[in-house]
Amino acid sequence: MASIDQALEANERYARSFDKHALPKAPARRLAVLTCMDARLDPQSFLGLELGDAHVIRNAGGRATEDAVRSLVISQRLLGTNEVLVIHHTDCGMLTFSNQELVDRIREELGADASGWDFLPFSDLEQSVRDDVEALRRSELIPDDVRIAGAVYDVGTGRLREVG
Ligand SMILES: [Zn+2]
Repeated sequence: MASIDQALEANERYARSFDKHALPKAPARRLAVLTCMDARLDPQSFLGLELGDAHVIRNAGGRATEDAVRSLVISQRLLGTNEVLVIHHTDCGMLTFSNQELVDRIREELGADASGWDFLPFSDLEQSVRDDVEALRRSELIPDDVRIAGAVYDVGTGRLREVG
């Protein structure tokens, strides 16, 4: 619990000087970012975003899952975003396991059966970006006039490289 306590304490300090109370709910740049939960990624910083600028949807890998699409639909239909940037990154944990390995590990460590799960690991970083951009383009819940781009973020340099 130590980390939660630290976080709550840090928030006390944050709230004391908080002055962004008047921001509108709709993202100012009309941008949604889909990226990985990796602790080394700070999308607001590496994309030059301010509070209120963009929706940042995160999951393991930054994959275009059903829940990511759910968030994008709400982002676009209710809150006016019209561009999506999909960002995967170097040294991602998703490159390090297979579904079978994780299913085996869950069985060993938890005694649970996860054999029906797809944890969406990948072995080719650029291909996974292309696959997820393509999945979003194919979704009938995301209109054709939404611009969707993909990129790879390098955790070693902080640089973003667009994937065509
Ligand atoms: Zn990752």
